[in-house]
Amino acid sequence: MYVKLQISAAILVVMMLVMCILVRRLVVWPLISYNESIKRGEIFPVIGAAELQSLAETYNHVYKENQETQKLIRHQAEHDAMPDLLNRGSFEKLLKIHEEGPSSYALLLIDADTFKTVNDTYGHDMGDQILKKVATLLKKTFRSIDYVCRIGGDEFAIIMVEMTSDLEYTILVINEKLSKEEDGLPAVSLSVGVAFSDRENPGDTIFKDADKALYEVKEDGRCGCKIYKF
Ligand code: GH3
Ligand code: MG
Repeated sequence: MYVKLQISAAILVVMMLVMCILVRRLVVWPLISYNESIKRGEIFPVIGAAELQSLAETYNHVYKENQETQKLIRHQAEHDAMPDLLNRGSFEKLLKIHEEGPSSYALLLIDADTFKTVNDTYGHDMGDQILKKVATLLKKTFRSIDYVCRIGGDEFAIIMVEMTSDLEYTILVINEKLSKEEDGLPAVSLSVGVAFSDRENPGDTIFKDADKALYEVKEDGRCGCKIYKF
């Protein structure tokens, strides 16, 4: 009787040990892993008991959907409705970073010429399509390291770093391309004011100086490019 009791106790202990191991492997360890995954912002490993694996799969699905939504929200917060351009908020942040940074750069302020008349003549929808064409051309012409932004209705701004090109020539080429009617879209032109961060006799801000240069282009009859000189 005593031996039987001892064997039963031993079996019970072994069973409890096995239970502990199983609970640890199937429940505790997965829960610890999930906690670590949440801390690291990663998906859950699909391990452990079937119910926990199902939980991990559901979480991973929601996590991936969330990531996509966040990416979209971030993109919409930073970009303009125009194809792939940064919006005014992003422009202001980037300009501040460049103003405070050590590297030299150029600021281009670009304004479409007589755009009110373009809208009045061809309609607002056509105006929108022309602005899209301008946006696409700017994005294509400048390098991926430059920041091409839309800062207002018919106004664009570009922050150029590590200058290599002759800007006046680049703008000439852009205006030449825009001067041709294409895909049923009428010709337009751009006026561009430029200020370099290392310009002589800087005014209040680089933005105001580039705007001064832009104003001069408008005064001189539009469709051109001027670099700020005091
Ligand atoms: P200027 O050559 O002096 O720049 O003349 P402008 O007529 O272009 O004058 P301004 O730049 O001050 O006006 C911009 C016009 O652009 C005003 C508005 O009718 C038009 N506009 C602004 N945003 C949009 C837009 O999203 N779509 C369209 N179609 N037109 C817009
Ligand atoms: Mg304009």
